[in-house]
Amino acid sequence: MRSKKNIKFAALAVFLVMVLVAAVPFWLDRSTTALVHDLRAELEQQQRVDSILDMLRDAETGQRGFIITGNEVFLEPWRHAEQALPAAIREAKDKAGSDAERANLRHIARLAELKLAELDETIAVRRAEGFAKTAQTVGSMRGKAYMDELRRLVAARHVRTEARRAELRTEMLAASRRSFMVSLAATLINICVFGALLVVLARMLRERRDTALQLEHKAEQLASAVEVGTRQNRELRIVAEMLRAVEAMPSSLDTGAVVARGFARLLPGAGGTFFALDGDDEGTLHQLSRWGDASAQPSEMTQDDCWALQHGTQYKTSGCDRPSCAHYRSHGGDGKGGMRLCVPLVTHDELIGLVHLEDLAREAGVREEQEQLAVTVAEQLALALGNARLRESLRRQSVLDPLTGLFNRRYFDETLRRELARSRRMASPLSLVVLDVDHFKRVNDGFGHAAGDAVLRAIAQLVRQSIRYCDVACRYGGEELVILMPDCAQSDALRRAESLRADIAGAPPMNDGAGPDTITASFGVAEFPLHGPDAEALFRAADQAMYRAKREGRNRVVRAAQP
Ligand code: GH3
Ligand code: MG
Ligand code: MG
Repeated sequence: MRSKKNIKFAALAVFLVMVLVAAVPFWLDRSTTALVHDLRAELEQQQRVDSILDMLRDAETGQRGFIITGNEVFLEPWRHAEQALPAAIREAKDKAGSDAERANLRHIARLAELKLAELDETIAVRRAEGFAKTAQTVGSMRGKAYMDELRRLVAARHVRTEARRAELRTEMLAASRRSFMVSLAATLINICVFGALLVVLARMLRERRDTALQLEHKAEQLASAVEVGTRQNRELRIVAEMLRAVEAMPSSLDTGAVVARGFARLLPGAGGTFFALDGDDEGTLHQLSRWGDASAQPSEMTQDDCWALQHGTQYKTSGCDRPSCAHYRSHGGDGKGGMRLCVPLVTHDELIGLVHLEDLAREAGVREEQEQLAVTVAEQLALALGNARLRESLRRQSVLDPLTGLFNRRYFDETLRRELARSRRMASPLSLVVLDVDHFKRVNDGFGHAAGDAVLRAIAQLVRQSIRYCDVACRYGGEELVILMPDCAQSDALRRAESLRADIAGAPPMNDGAGPDTITASFGVAEFPLHGPDAEALFRAADQAMYRAKREGRNRVVRAAQP
């Protein structure tokens, strides 16, 4: 803004100075013309005065010739003077430039008239009275006196004219010097103002260039901020998706693929391995997944195999700068010689896993960002895994019987309904086995309640060992257990119930001898839809078969009666 004002002011000043410089020659020309004009007028006037004197002198010469010879031819200059002199005197008077000049000319005119009159008189005398009489008239010296006076006046005028001419020349010289000085001053001012204009222009250009550079810099900053923002948004989205998926998994041991996909997208180019603790096998970390070009890692490891797990914080090695962890040293993982980062997954001071990363970016700045991201994501992942494990444990607690580890009655009811619907849909058989420990009250009464509990746990263990992966064993209540056998016909169920009965009856229920030597159980077996069209009817049929087994002498398997 200020620069714009300055440049306008400087441009105006330059224009004015230029106008001034351009006006100098005009002004110089005008004053010189006036001086030359004065000089010429002076010379012309001098010539007029000279011609008056010349005419009189010629007339006088002619008069003298006529007087001597009496020849009229000599009078030609006198006649010419008679005719031309009045006009010449008038013109000289008209052109007089000052009062002094006019007075001087009046004087000259008066003398010229007197001289002419003297000439007229002598010529007339010569004509009328002859030479001798004329010589007397001329001898009076009157005519000579007029001419002498005239010569003196004209000579004086010459001197004045010469002085005036010298004066005019000096004036011309002074005018020329003045115009030179003005011109020089104007040029200097012009140079100064032009210089100032250039300085202002240069400053303006510099300011503009600085502003442009600043704008460019700001645009770059904005672009990189947008880029960072976009990248962080993408990372946030990936992390959120990963954490949601981890939390949705039924078991923390199922999260391997989700974690591998998440890290592979977050850190493209980097390889990694994900380990997690198994809830049932505390102290051992299991390899759940691998991604990228990760080196071979053990399928299981303990806290002692990793410095990060021992110190509870991330551990980074690059080449041989620090001791490497046993889990990749033992698997020939040092061959790559690159940077490795172990990040423990810890939540509420409890270790739940480990993320091991390799092949992070070579560029230090990018690698630091990747490390920071990995550590942040690991924290979030640990939290999500912790939550998943907690939920899993709560879910297990809510469906498991704490004494036997079998599912509880609530879970049995839900599962029976679900499996019946599936069986109906698939038209596949479903068998239900109900077993009740025989004379269990005696165990309690004879060996104590704790022994009774131990017997129940031992029987539950036998049940667990005997069932298939898809069977569901539950503690229905007290010492009564049920086994749901999907895709299993009654004949098969009877055979497997018989086998379990024999196992229970054959094995000593307690190894330490603090309980009964043997224990038996009675079994009732029913098949859907053969013995009941719904859950209640099917259970009732199996339960009644079990009671029949009791009545028939216990330690046996009884098939449900056809309805
Ligand atoms: P039966 O052969 O007719 O089934 O005789 P029983 O003694 O097994 O039958 P009963 O129904 O008379 O007794 C069941 C006993 O099981 C009663 C109860 O105190 C005991 N019991 C139920 N739940 C538990 C438990 O969780 N722990 C222990 N130790 N005993 C239990
Ligand atoms: Mg019983
Ligand atoms: Mg009972």
